[in-house]
Amino acid sequence: IQVVEQTEPNMPICSNEPTLESNNGTEKATLVMLVRNREIREALSSMRSVEDRFNRKFHYPWTFLNDKPFTKDFIEYTTGMASGPVEYQVIPKEAWSIPKSINTTIVKQEMAEMTRQNIIYGGSLSYRHMCRFNSGFFYNMEVMKKYDWYWRVEPGIELYCDIEYDPFTFMRTNNKIYGFVITMYEFEATIKTLWSRTKEFEIDGNYNLCHFWSNFEIASLNFYRSEAYTKYFEFLDSAGGFFYERWGDAPVHSLGVGLFAPKDKIHHFADFGYSHPPCSRCPQDDESHKSGRCYCNRAVNFDTNSYSCMPRWWDGMLNSIDNLCGILY
Ligand code: GDP
Ligand code: MN
Repeated sequence: IQVVEQTEPNMPICSNEPTLESNNGTEKATLVMLVRNREIREALSSMRSVEDRFNRKFHYPWTFLNDKPFTKDFIEYTTGMASGPVEYQVIPKEAWSIPKSINTTIVKQEMAEMTRQNIIYGGSLSYRHMCRFNSGFFYNMEVMKKYDWYWRVEPGIELYCDIEYDPFTFMRTNNKIYGFVITMYEFEATIKTLWSRTKEFEIDGNYNLCHFWSNFEIASLNFYRSEAYTKYFEFLDSAGGFFYERWGDAPVHSLGVGLFAPKDKIHHFADFGYSHPPCSRCPQDDESHKSGRCYCNRAVNFDTNSYSCMPRWWDGMLNSIDNLCGILY
């Protein structure tokens, strides 16, 4: 056994004091998680990962949202895991309920039909509330108002690489509004009329179903608060497709970004290793692996899966196609 002599014997070995490398984050930004009490284990493992790989050096605040009050355990354990301030908000009823204009008999019929067709989450009403909330409400919650930027974290995710810089600062200084790690095709059966509704609002062409996988997002809150996006959401919402169909927040965010932001304001975090089962991606450059920054398997990478939209994204970069992700090919 080799004993390594401590060079500075008076230094405490364990300390919660910020170390020299600590560099508190300076952006008006929060890590935000919409989550259910019963997902506490998965919530804590996501937090552990984000703290270890990134936030222990930046101490950004965590914001937890829930349609039900958080339990004492949930609050205590997540507060304990956070290296920054923590806030909890129960979502107000109007942001998590069926609007009066919706015919609930039809919603029930459609949910039963989608269940028969085995469409993922097709029979779930709570999933519909979640998608609508993430599409049109989260950025206006009281606890979110003080922030300009958010990083969406979901229960059960994992970051595979150390993030040595502040991605919020990166977004601001590079004039970006939306950052993603994985992009893929949506199940058409869940958004049958989303594109036709979108075309009525704005534009012509075709939608190739590509969307940024919204369980990871680092993005601008003010983008969603803009008049353009707000009107777009209200127009979609008035068609009822969040309930009659099962419009996901990922295609809605992606179409919104595609319609109202030039492509150069979108950022692919190619240096992030990320997993949200069943998909993951891993940085492909040598340095990320030789430096010890990442521990993922380079060969396991959704970017080159046939369901990934990355080839279209790279094509769009090369050919300077203006419409994001080939939404309008
Ligand atoms: P998936 O990633 O599409 O399989 O869907 P998830 O089950 O992960 O849900 C997406 C996000 O919304 C996760 O952060 C969930 O914790 C959260 N979520 C989903 N349904 C509910 C719900 O009914 N209540 C609350 N509070 N959060 C929910
Ligand atoms: Mn999820």
